[in-house]
Amino acid sequence: MFFYTTYKQLQKVFSVIKFGYKNKNENMDIDAKIRKIPNWPKEGVLFYDVTTLFEDKEAFHYVVDELCRPYENMQIDKVVGIDARGFLLASSMAYKLGAGVTIVRKKGKLPHKTISRNYILEYASATIEMHEDAIKNRERVIVVDDLVATGGTMTATTELVEQLGGIILGISWIVDLQFLGGSKKISGYNCNYLISYDNEEVEDKTQKYLNTDQSALTETTVSKQIKIGIIGGSGLENLNILENKKQEKINTPFGAPSDLVTTGRISNVEVVIITRHSRHHNIKPSDVNYRANIWAMKELDVTHILATTACGSLKEDIKPGDFVILDQFIDRTTKRAQTFYEGRVCHIPMAEPFCYKLRTLVYQTAQELEITAHPQGTAITIEGPRFSTKAESDLFRSWNADIINMTTVPEVVLAREAGICYQAIAMATDYDCWRETGDSVDIQQILKVMKQNANKIEKLLIEVIPKINFTECKCNKDIEGAVI
Ligand SMILES: [Zn+2]
Repeated sequence: MFFYTTYKQLQKVFSVIKFGYKNKNENMDIDAKIRKIPNWPKEGVLFYDVTTLFEDKEAFHYVVDELCRPYENMQIDKVVGIDARGFLLASSMAYKLGAGVTIVRKKGKLPHKTISRNYILEYASATIEMHEDAIKNRERVIVVDDLVATGGTMTATTELVEQLGGIILGISWIVDLQFLGGSKKISGYNCNYLISYDNEEVEDKTQKYLNTDQSALTETTVSKQIKIGIIGGSGLENLNILENKKQEKINTPFGAPSDLVTTGRISNVEVVIITRHSRHHNIKPSDVNYRANIWAMKELDVTHILATTACGSLKEDIKPGDFVILDQFIDRTTKRAQTFYEGRVCHIPMAEPFCYKLRTLVYQTAQELEITAHPQGTAITIEGPRFSTKAESDLFRSWNADIINMTTVPEVVLAREAGICYQAIAMATDYDCWRETGDSVDIQQILKVMKQNANKIEKLLIEVIPKINFTECKCNKDIEGAVI
């Protein structure tokens, strides 16, 4: 996957320091370690046997390390291994990632109550099962197997994990049989594999990226149609990070966006910026024309939106200056249009409102830049413009919300209706009024934090935008079937 190669390429810079084994295995020939068995388990099927790869101690370590690499610092709760070779990978990876391990088995093998799925294999049909309590609601999960062929087992497994409420942060496997189309079926997820076979022709991706220099890789992997939208919140009125900057006035069926739209490029990627409250910061949260802003992005063919939002912290461990890469919201707004579909009914799914692929990239990049960031968090969006009462703040804390702001809803909802991947980066400026500090709110202090946040977010955006390299995502598909 492009995501993986780019990520790997960037990691390579740090790898010598962080991973001593790396140099030793730079020329690991995975293909040579995999035994190919013609006509097994039936005539006409070429079987890719990874047991020989696992038996080689250097190759096995290499494979486990490489499969774990995209998930370092991602706080994975569980690695799900698929029967049977997937178990070997899952347990090794879970140990390395500090996660638990759970198994998906063929029918009839698990002793406790199970949930199950039927699927079609490359050469048979079958049923797989999982214990019904194997994954807890909202656990952070990766799914692992040795090989993806038609993708039936993997698709069935993702369905089981999601039925139990798990959040799939990635799918990893070693051998991708591209010509059987399985990886396409799961391309909405963050997919990472090590070697791909296309009709007997071998493309060893691990070799490819190690031999490519970074600029060439960026050129070839950033697809032309990718266009990034930035919605800049409070404190980002003067965002000046684009090359070849132009400003244009856009109108939409819902009226004008908050301000002139700025277009330009960051490292050769096309970028569009809209300042949410206008350059003059004179549009209050209730009056932002969210529909016009998102419509303008859609009109300009934006595929991904990164939004920034200044916020108050509702948790002790989210300190002023910290970033929270949101994954949930609670809506306490009252006056805002939340849909483009006037006169029709659009039940857009909202269980996972933000784009987990963007979230992953943003979080990883923040880590690389040593910006203090929390990989998930629930925003409570209030109508404003007033701040909360102490009673409200305590209530929101009792709901387990992490931060409080005034703009995430309906922006994220409209982006999903428009089929655009959307991720909000919340930047804490202060503790909301719940915290008994004895000090009164110091406006100078808040302004100072906002300025520091603006500097950090600029760095983060410049660094993360060239890494965005996927166009297929679940976010694009939810609108299909939502309108009745
Ligand atoms: Zn997405």
